Amino acid sequence: MPIYLDNAATTRPCEPAVSAVFHNMVEDYGNPSSLHKIGLTAEQNVTEARKAVAAALVCDPQCVTFTSGATECNNTAIFGAAKNYGKRKKKIVVSAIEHPSVAEPIKYLEEKEGFEVVRIKPSRDGEIDAEDFIEAVDENTCLASCMLVNNETGAIQPVRKIFSRIKRDFPECITHCDAVQGFMKMPIKSAEIFADVIVVSGHKVHAVKGVGAMYIRKGIRIAPLLLGGGQEKNLRSGTESVPLIAGFGAAIRALMPTVGVAHENAEKISAYLLKKLSKLDYVTVNSTAENSSPYIINFSVEGIRSEIMLHFLESRDIYVSSGSACAKGAHSSVLTAMGVSDKLADSAIRVSICRTTTMGEIDVLVTALQEGWQSLAKSK
Ligand code: PMP
Repeated sequence: MPIYLDNAATTRPCEPAVSAVFHNMVEDYGNPSSLHKIGLTAEQNVTEARKAVAAALVCDPQCVTFTSGATECNNTAIFGAAKNYGKRKKKIVVSAIEHPSVAEPIKYLEEKEGFEVVRIKPSRDGEIDAEDFIEAVDENTCLASCMLVNNETGAIQPVRKIFSRIKRDFPECITHCDAVQGFMKMPIKSAEIFADVIVVSGHKVHAVKGVGAMYIRKGIRIAPLLLGGGQEKNLRSGTESVPLIAGFGAAIRALMPTVGVAHENAEKISAYLLKKLSKLDYVTVNSTAENSSPYIINFSVEGIRSEIMLHFLESRDIYVSSGSACAKGAHSSVLTAMGVSDKLADSAIRVSICRTTTMGEIDVLVTALQEGWQSLAKSK
């Protein structure tokens, strides 16, 4: 059996999600916009999934919009907010450690649309200082964007503190939170994090790829990226992918009752891994934030490039990710923003666990890391 420790990249779909996808392909295959019974059934299945997302985010189902994934949600939120709120207010404040689906649209607005962009760097442990972020926001800021959990280090960002202060002092500034790596792993109550837009993705929570959702607070106007049939309250035209949406809903319903237990288990597993890593003097842990998701652990193995170690582990049927996102030798922008040296960034490994990860799997990983270091360091 493979030991899959790359769950921040994607997760294995759970059985209820797969069954729901299948059922909505072969049985309830209607178009939710059709006026007949078969269309109505499809629409009801989308409604049930919307309720599931809303229950997980503790919001009104009417505030939930389905899209093709978090990338589309982030693009829609950023371009849509800039279009409606950025005519006179031309400033955007964003963390320097966002996923490319946030960083790139904002860079586009900076380079092509004349927006001023302030990027807030994290401290060495990967956490954004809330005061730094808040101070950068002023009356000209149309958008403030900060992720909930960093996808490379697991560092939890102080979004509640940041967004509550921004909404108090500059209520017109749109607050956007990419919550992909926190969703179904920690409680996210929409009202409590003061984000106008919250983005989540299906395939990170044991649903299938190609579906995401965003919460948009009532009264916030986000301009659509796609024009057409006016589905999803005009925000996302195109026939809804009912199977993927229903699968997303089914995965959420399956995971919801045990989010807390799963979190406790993940804490035990990550503490176990960190304890074992602390005994290896050639390993430096990069995930050092005090507030950190137990699901993501990033560390560097001295002198061995990420990819080399990744493939060594692969040869043992163990699957992790290289901390540096680019294969062509560019360093991870997240680790670089944290001030991690090029040498350490070059040898970063990200282990991301899931609900079914066991201590036994961690034992196998650590043994393989030790063997890898011995054989690869020798052949350097
Ligand atoms: N944001 C974060 C933090 C992510 O980790 C990812 C997936 N790597 C995305 C956005 C993009 O999600 P999707 O694959 O659903 O487009």
